[in-house]
Amino acid sequence: MAQISLTFPDGNKRDFASGVTAAEVAAAISPGLAKKAVSALVDGAPFDLQWPIEGDARIAIHTLQDEAVALELIRHDLAHIMARAVQELWPEVKVTIGPVIKDGWYYDFDRAEPFSAEDLGAIEAKMKQIINARDPVKTEVWERDAAIAFYKAKDEPFKVELVEAIPADQKIRMYWHGPWQDLCRGPHLQHTGQVPADSFRLMSVAGAYWRGDSRNKQLQRIYAVAFRNREDLKAHLTMLEEAAKRDHRRLGKEMELFHLQEEAPGMVFWHPNGWLIYRTLEDYMRRRQRGAGYQEIRTPQVVDRVLWERSGHWEAYRENMFIVEVDEDGAKEKRINALKPMNCPCHVQVYNQGLKSYRNLPLRLAEFGSCHRYESSGSMHGLMRVRGFTQDDAHIFATPDQIETECASFIALLTSVYHDLGFDRFEIKLSTRPDVRVGSDEVWDKAEGALEQAINGLGLPYQIAEGDGSFYGPKLDFKLTDAIGREWQCGTFQCDFNLPDRLGAEYVGEDGAKHTPVMLHRAILGSFERFIGIMIENYAGRLPFWLAPRQVVVASIVSDADAYVHEVVATLKARGVRAEADVRNEKINYKVREHSVGKVPVILAIGMKEVEERTVSLRRLGDTKTETLSFDTVLDDLATAALAPDLV
Ligand SMILES: [Zn+2]
Ligand SMILES: [Zn+2]
Repeated sequence: MAQISLTFPDGNKRDFASGVTAAEVAAAISPGLAKKAVSALVDGAPFDLQWPIEGDARIAIHTLQDEAVALELIRHDLAHIMARAVQELWPEVKVTIGPVIKDGWYYDFDRAEPFSAEDLGAIEAKMKQIINARDPVKTEVWERDAAIAFYKAKDEPFKVELVEAIPADQKIRMYWHGPWQDLCRGPHLQHTGQVPADSFRLMSVAGAYWRGDSRNKQLQRIYAVAFRNREDLKAHLTMLEEAAKRDHRRLGKEMELFHLQEEAPGMVFWHPNGWLIYRTLEDYMRRRQRGAGYQEIRTPQVVDRVLWERSGHWEAYRENMFIVEVDEDGAKEKRINALKPMNCPCHVQVYNQGLKSYRNLPLRLAEFGSCHRYESSGSMHGLMRVRGFTQDDAHIFATPDQIETECASFIALLTSVYHDLGFDRFEIKLSTRPDVRVGSDEVWDKAEGALEQAINGLGLPYQIAEGDGSFYGPKLDFKLTDAIGREWQCGTFQCDFNLPDRLGAEYVGEDGAKHTPVMLHRAILGSFERFIGIMIENYAGRLPFWLAPRQVVVASIVSDADAYVHEVVATLKARGVRAEADVRNEKINYKVREHSVGKVPVILAIGMKEVEERTVSLRRLGDTKTETLSFDTVLDDLATAALAPDLV
């Protein structure tokens, strides 16, 4: 039999008979590894331990220690195990597909009865039995027709449809978890017992259309999470509980910040408290941008389709645009406009007014740009995903040589803003050229190099996503981490070689000839709506004092203190503190409780002792103790705390 040479990660080579499986290779290394092995990587591709290796290759054997690989396999095997458990409990249920997703997997089932909470419990118990049985995982390659006949005989119409969609000349890979069979590309674990039985949880059931198409049959999707050990599962469940407590939709109600309603789906009704946060953040961003050399502009909401056709959005993005038809001057033909889904084409219009020379560059145009994008009703989520939002948008028109310094100063600004807002951890992803793109390789080399140099120059770590850039240029994405470890993609910096060219932006170079500037799209917060949602959840509603919409409540303990209460409120207001009086005839504990729910950071209680001594009893949100202090000291402290970080 022919020999093949396998190269291990440490560089060692070893010969095996052609057709050897990775499981056999593991066994040849050590019985311990054979037992612990979960999968292999052969020439960089995921490889089932049972598949034969036919030629020379690089090989790596994975165990549960290899987190990413192990999680993928555990979740994928659990999807099969769950489907088997469901069919063992209810043989009439039809199975479809069950992909791995973030933190777990889901599987779509066709069943007349809805799955109840008890059903999920029964499925979980059955899955544990299957895991404990340590049933072997087996795989075979079948002819397509045999697979179709097999699924027809089993009355699994969705599987028949899946196999029929595979090209006729392709073989079909089949998998068995014990006696239970499913169609799958693999790879899989060696046996069901390799899945940790105590580290998964079925979470919820939701409706889902077959193949995501509402004309198709509605199925039931069971969502689940899985990890490598019980501790990780517990940490995840705790994080979810913590997230639920911090849900910005609930806090938004308690703090009276905003609401949403059916007549304007995905568009926010800001209430006075919420709008105060918004405006405070906007004022802060305006000062920061002005300080960084941006000029603020404002462009129209409703723009004729002609401009969207020129920019390419009409063709590529129309499904997400709100269309506005107008009877212009009573004309027979309606004029078709769109609400702007992004500000970029309008900014080029501002740039294009008047001749520009290299001396005008870089030109940084900023707009708190109100945009509208159609999102399906199912995908909307509080402030996090909306149809109407305002970006902290800006476009820098620059020469290719200016990309690096512009990028570096942008990252410095972003870092400082995130720090001021309480986020010190963020990740940078650099996305490079995709296969389909505009612009010469020379320009791409320059732009990618400039972005990388800018990050390196600041000494920041980053990841490279090869080929993930837009067709019009490379980009940086900035993902911040919140207080409970969740990641949010907010900032972006994108080079664009396409739009300025399409819309005829030019500048006269030092050589006297006309050139097209590079357009740098950039945002720090992303949108005000979403960023405020993130901040509410990050701080669990207890925003930094300067951002808190209600900063101080001055509460009377007895009604004889009312005059002093009003004096304290007026003095605080005069020093720029958002203060209000609570002189209702209620017990002080009742008042404190109520304002704590409203997340007011400071409560000053005032009784006769305070009136006589001109003091206040200060209680901070979340503290149980009260401090009696001279009002003058408190006034100075609160007036300083009320300043935005850039003004201190
Ligand atoms: Zn599978
Ligand atoms: Zn843009």
